[in-house]
Amino acid sequence: MNHYQESRDAVLQQIQHACAQSRRSVDSVQLLAVSKTHPSDALRAMYATGQRAFGENYLQEALDKIEALQDLAIEWHFIGHVQRNKTKHLAEKFAWVHGVDRLIIAERLSSQRLDSDEPLNICLQVNIDGQDTKDGCAPEEVATLVEQISQLPHLRLRGLMVIPAPNNLKAFADAQALFEQVKEHHAHPNDWDTLSMGMSGDLEAAVAAGSTMVRVGTALFGARDYQK
Ligand SMILES: *Cc1c(COP(=O)(O)O)cnc(C)c1O
Repeated sequence: MNHYQESRDAVLQQIQHACAQSRRSVDSVQLLAVSKTHPSDALRAMYATGQRAFGENYLQEALDKIEALQDLAIEWHFIGHVQRNKTKHLAEKFAWVHGVDRLIIAERLSSQRLDSDEPLNICLQVNIDGQDTKDGCAPEEVATLVEQISQLPHLRLRGLMVIPAPNNLKAFADAQALFEQVKEHHAHPNDWDTLSMGMSGDLEAAVAAGSTMVRVGTALFGARDYQK
């Protein structure tokens, strides 16, 4: 067995274990393979193990890989910071964008999505633990943004995405509470089905707190080398 298969099996087993612990069904949690800094060949090898959803952070790097891997049925997720002047590429090339935190970004993505494509899946990024970062809206802004973004024709707003400080269990619980609160007031609660939360170091705690999509890089591909 090659090491891609081994590391993916190990991560899937961790997810399975965490699901069993919290009496959730194993198919309620999706594995997103975070492949930033890794070459196309690594993604191709991971794809061969059965992985279909891949997450990228840097637009140009992602576009190069999308081009190089056109022959594969990959579901591409953008999980990086969304710049206002780069939305067109995201609208055209990706199936999901996780880092939406302002109405203007959502409006641009919706207007730039082609009529012929499926709606673009969106997660609203929330700065759930009040980190000193520009990324993510404030928890208080979520209700209004959900209402506004839900009106946009070429988007499908699926839920929330958070990147709390590592192993911040309180932040996981807060994200879960916010996610459930929106679901309760949602006009179409079945469309609100994604809580994107948890990475290599804390995916089990995230699953325990209701994550439906864990974003895992290092545990699948090994350490990243940003020099290359
Ligand atoms: C890089 C990254 C990940 C993956 O982190 P690992 O610790 O390598 O699993 C997950 N989510 C986001 C938003 C990232 O930027």
